[in-house]
Amino acid sequence: MKVIPAMEPSATSRSRRSFLAGFGAAFATLGLSPALAAADAAKAAEKALPRKKITDPYVYKFSIGKFEAWSISDGWGTFKEGVTKKMWPPAERAQMQEVMRSRGERPDDMTLYINILLLRKDKEVILVDAGFGNVERDTWGWLGQAMASPEVGIRPEEVTHALLSHSHIDHIGGFAKEGRIIFPNAALHVLKAEVDFWRGKEPDFTKSHRTDNIPQMIKNVRNSFDTLQPNLVLHKDGDQILDGAITILAAPGHTDGHAIYRIKSEGQSLLHLSDLAHNHVLMFEDPAWFIDFDHDPEAAIASRRKWFAELSATRERAYGFHLPWPGLGVVASNGRKGYQWLPEAWRWDF
Ligand SMILES: [Zn+2]
Repeated sequence: MKVIPAMEPSATSRSRRSFLAGFGAAFATLGLSPALAAADAAKAAEKALPRKKITDPYVYKFSIGKFEAWSISDGWGTFKEGVTKKMWPPAERAQMQEVMRSRGERPDDMTLYINILLLRKDKEVILVDAGFGNVERDTWGWLGQAMASPEVGIRPEEVTHALLSHSHIDHIGGFAKEGRIIFPNAALHVLKAEVDFWRGKEPDFTKSHRTDNIPQMIKNVRNSFDTLQPNLVLHKDGDQILDGAITILAAPGHTDGHAIYRIKSEGQSLLHLSDLAHNHVLMFEDPAWFIDFDHDPEAAIASRRKWFAELSATRERAYGFHLPWPGLGVVASNGRKGYQWLPEAWRWDF
C-alpha cells in the first residue's frame, strides 16, 4: 500500500474551471446561441488543465484462502449536503445526523468510497466491478493505474472473469469506453434480471428518489451493454463460477438485478456486499434508512435486513464497495434494533 501524494490542482485552476463550467451551463439553460460556444470554450479549457496523475495508488493486499486479493480504491465522491440531500426518509434526517455526530462523523459531508476487489488464483484473474472508468476527473477512475502499478501488475487482457454487481456508472463505467471493451478476454457475469431491467421497454423508476437524469442514464447503460454483449454471461440467483469458488447471489432493490458475491477457498470466505450499504454508519444503525440511488427502496431494505441478519449471526468476513477503504470488516448487532460495521484492522502479514 502506498499513499497518493497531495497533488491537487491549484485553487486557481479549480475556481477557473468551475467558473467556465458555470458560465457555459448558464447560457445553455437560457437556450441562447452563445451557449454552444461557451460550452465548447469551457470544455477546451478543462482539457488544457493539468490533471492530477495518480502515480502511487491506494492498493491493499490480502488473501482469501488460495486467492490473492487486492482492494483497490477507484476514488471517492462527497455529498456536501450530507444526509440532508441523499438519505431517506427525510423525517429521520435529524436523527441520522445525530447518529453521525455521536460516532464522531461529520453530519454535513457524506463520503462515498469506491472500492474494487481484484482476485487471482493460478491463471484466473477476477475483477468485481470496474469503477467509473478512465474519466477526466481527479477524484475517481483510478483502477487502471492501480492495476498497472508494481503493487498489482495485472494487464487488462489478463482478466479472465469480471463480475458486474449492477449497472450504475460507478460500477459499469470501467468496463467499456467509446465502444471498446476494456477487459477483452473477461467473461462478464451479470444477473439476467439486471440486463432485462435496463433493456426493458420502460425501465421502472417510479419507486426511486433518484434526482439525476434518468433517460440519459438508461441510454448510457444500454450503450454499455451493447458494447459488452459479446462477453456477457447471464446468471440466476445462486449460480456458481470457478468450480464453486464464487457464488452469485441476488440482492435486489438497489437495482432489479443487484448481485452480491460469496468467495470461498480453503475454508475461508468473504461476502462482497456490493451496494447493500452506502455508508458505514447509517445503513447499519437502521437498515430502513436508504440512499436515493435505490431503485426500489423497500426491496433494498429487505435485502439489507436479510443479509445483515445472517452476517451478524455468522460473523463472516465482508467487503463493502462503498464502505471506507479498504472495505473489509464484519457486521455485528448493535444491541438495539440495528447493526454496526466493525472494520477489520489493517494487516501487513496477509
Ligand atoms: Zn454504487
